Order: sequence, then C-alpha cells, then structure tokens
Amino acid sequence: MLKIYNTLNKQIEEFKPVYTRATPGKLLQKKIGLYTCGPTVYNYAHIGNLRTYVFEDILKRALKYNGYKINHVMNITDVGHLTSDADEGEDKLEKGAKRENKTVWEIAEFYTKKFQENLLDLNILEPDVWCKATDHIKEQIKLVQTLINKGYTYETNDGIYFDTTKVADYGKLANLQNQELKAGARIEMGEKKNPHDFALWKWSERHSERHPERPEGVEGSPTKKRQMEWHAPFGTAQGKSGRMGFPGWHIECSAMSIKYLGEQFDLHCGGIDHVSIHHTNEIAQSEAVTDKKPWVKYWLHGEFLNMGSDKMSKAGDNFVTLDTLKEKGISPLAYRYLLLQTHYRKQLTFSWEALEAAQAGLDHLYEEVLKVHKVPKSIKSEAISEKFQEAINNDLDTPKALAIVWEAIKNKEIDYKTLLKFDKILGLNFSNVTIQQSSNEIIPDEINKLLDLRQQARAEKNWAESDRLREEITKLGYEVEDTNEGQKITKI
Ligand code: AMP
Ligand code: ZN
Repeated sequence: MLKIYNTLNKQIEEFKPVYTRATPGKLLQKKIGLYTCGPTVYNYAHIGNLRTYVFEDILKRALKYNGYKINHVMNITDVGHLTSDADEGEDKLEKGAKRENKTVWEIAEFYTKKFQENLLDLNILEPDVWCKATDHIKEQIKLVQTLINKGYTYETNDGIYFDTTKVADYGKLANLQNQELKAGARIEMGEKKNPHDFALWKWSERHSERHPERPEGVEGSPTKKRQMEWHAPFGTAQGKSGRMGFPGWHIECSAMSIKYLGEQFDLHCGGIDHVSIHHTNEIAQSEAVTDKKPWVKYWLHGEFLNMGSDKMSKAGDNFVTLDTLKEKGISPLAYRYLLLQTHYRKQLTFSWEALEAAQAGLDHLYEEVLKVHKVPKSIKSEAISEKFQEAINNDLDTPKALAIVWEAIKNKEIDYKTLLKFDKILGLNFSNVTIQQSSNEIIPDEINKLLDLRQQARAEKNWAESDRLREEITKLGYEVEDTNEGQKITKI
C-alpha cells in the first residue's frame, strides 16, 4: 500500500487512484494520470530544479513498482512566465533572448534540449507526453474564453485577470484563507482588484512598452517588441474585437493537463515554491472551468535545494548546473545518490563536500554491487524486499530504503537479482556497473549505451553482434574485456 503526503489535505494518505465508471456498479481503473510542472526554458536548469525532477521520478518509479500503469505528462514553459511570479516584470523567455541575442524560439529549443539531456544523465524516466505552452495556445485561449463566459474574469489595461474572490475556497492548497497579507507588504497591484488575482492573458503591446531595459531604437532588433504573441478574441473593453497578446503562466498547465489527462486526474507535482501561487491558481481556474469538480486528487511537492540560507535560483548568479558537477568529477548519478539520502520533503543544503562524499559512497556501492554478482540466491531476499518496499511506500522514504540496501550488502544477505529489482526505484544503474566504473572515471553515455546493447547481444548469444559492438567501442577509444564480473571497460 503506497502512502504519500498530500499537500491538499496536509497529511499522509493511502494512494487510491481516480477510477472511471465503466458500466453502472463497475469501476474501471485507468492509467494513473501524473502531471509534473516542467522547466521554464530560458536558461540552464540548476541542480535545485533537478532535485524536484528526481523526486518526481522516484514517485513515478514507486507507482510502477506497485503495479500501476502511468500516463505522465510534462510541460515546457516557453512563454508567459514573468520574472516575478506575481505577473510582473518581463517574460523570462524574451529576457533570455535579449541576453543571448537570439530569437525566443532558439532560446526555448536550446534549453529544452539541455534539460532533456540532464534528465537522461540523471536516469530520470521520460514522460509519455512532452507538451510546449506555445504548441497549445488554442487550448489556452479556449479556457480563458470559458472563464470569461462564466464570469470569473475582469479586464484591465494589462490583460484579462482572474477574480479570486469569485472562488470561495481559493487558496485551499496553501491555506491562504488563513494568511492575511501582512500590513505594508509590498505587492504590485497595478489595476488588480485583489492581491491574489492573477493574469490569464496579457496584451502584448502594453507589455512590450513597459520595459525600460529594452534597448531603444535598435533597427531590426528582435528586442524591439515581444517576439511571441498571438491574436485572441478578448479585449472588447476598448471596443476592439480582439488583441494581440500572450498567455499568463498558470493557464498553460491547466489547459495541457486537462487536454492530456482529463478533467479529473490523480497526481500533480512540482517544487514547494509552486504551492502558494502557481498551483493555487491552477486549481482555481481549472475547478472554475469544470464547475467545481475536484480536479487533482493528490498534490506532491519537493523541498528546496538551498545555496547557503536561500533556495538555489536561476535569477541569482550562484546556481550550479549538472555540467559544472561533471567538470568537477561528480557524476550525475552521484548527485542522484546524494538526493536519495535526504527525504524529498526536507530541505537540503548544497556543498561540494557532500557531493564528493556522495561520489565516494556511490563508487563504494558499485564495488559492492560487483561482489553481489557472486552471491547465490539469498533466502533473505524476500524479507529484505518487503522492508525495502515498505520504506518506499512510506511517503518515498529513500534514505531508509538505501540504509536497508547497505545493511543487506554488509550482511551478505542480498542477491544480484534483488538488487536489480531495487534499482527499478533507485535508478542508479546497477546493471551497468563495470569494474572501471567503480573507480572515479566517468564512462561516456555513448559507451554505456553500447555496453548495454552488447550485454543484451551476449545474453541472446548473438556473438556476431557482440563482436561488432566491441569493434565500435574500440573505435571510440575504449577496450572491453569479458570477465566473470561482467564487461570490464578501459580507456585505450
Ligand atoms: P522553473 O524552471 O523555474 O519553472 O522551475 C522548475 C522546477 O524546479 C519547479 O518545479 C520549481 O518548483 C523547482 N525549483 C526551483 N528552485 C528549486 C530549488 N532551489 N530546489 C528544488 N526545486 C526547485
Ligand atoms: Zn505548472
């Protein structure tokens, strides 16, 4: 029985999927709908962002381990996320384009690709559906139109806003009802009627005029005007039949999750900073559209990776990327291993010492995995498996699960097959462990992929293919040798 902490109800709950009614009296279990808020692709993801995606990966693997089939959707935010989460400032993508003197489309494509490479490096399972905000403008316009028709919105000089006072339980996710704004707290109200009201759609001409940092008078400069804008049928207050504009940040997640997962689905996740604004606003607009149908059953949030006493953030200049870790000899999987040692709902503070210790710990674990190759079937495996699954099912207690693995290894009570089974959750690539990998050298992904294929070919006794792959590996500068403990790889 999988138990998880549900931010919506502020307690650990047994996971019970949303069912559909197939025929009267008969419930049909559909695939689990999982939506994870994706990156804003105007810069590299930092390892704080990636902590959130590793936690979500553990959740997904835990669901699979418990036998559920999953439909996982992740969005790419490539428009509409402004430099302040409270709908103020510049569009982050437009800002990224100016910084690098590229088009927003180039910026989005480049950082999306980088992000997807990061996920592969961290052995994060790919979503079933990737969806970009800019590919779903029609769906977002339709949702905004529905909200206008239902009377949830008002128009300002800046765009179309959601009136949060129209929703009685607004803020239920973050307990905002009990959180009066502190007297004197700074909030950019503009023409907003209420502090929590948020933009569904913004006029682009107004928006592009507003930014003093935009270089003036540069002939043909892509920075002169917003690059991303679409025509929408709103903006009638000025007697117009529509205006150019762009979506607010939150509407994309409602539009795309409803499109791919339906009006009611199981799980929605993100980092803890999404609770009070992004996810709160997603709930308000989605449940307004569906006439108060409870939208998502379980909301899960991962805690921050901090840099000193503050969260690591893309806006600050002291963020660390996965590439930086690699340059310093820390493998992405060592970072994953570090993350697994702290519960996802606890804050973690960045330090190079902790990363180096994690690298040494993972190297040691790999050495032990090689020794476990020789352990015949263990009679204790079943009992250990039960303890392992219990830890994972207790709100994804990966620190405890790792401790169980280490203890079983020390007591020589675990066999290789069981270790591989646990790796379905841990994702540390035990099946790829070779003698060389257990030392500090990082084997390139390309070689690891060829080694996997070769292992498979050998298992199928396809010796010709195995030899061909050996040659390919040699051409790339590595020598492979078959030992009792698996393939040994050395740099030529
Ligand atoms: P962004 O690319 O800024 O939209 O953020 C992508 C994801 O990273 C979101 O789920 C954020 O909540 C999460 N996130 C942002 N900063 C951190 C951090 N320092 N630690 C953990 N997660 C974070
Ligand atoms: Zn989102």
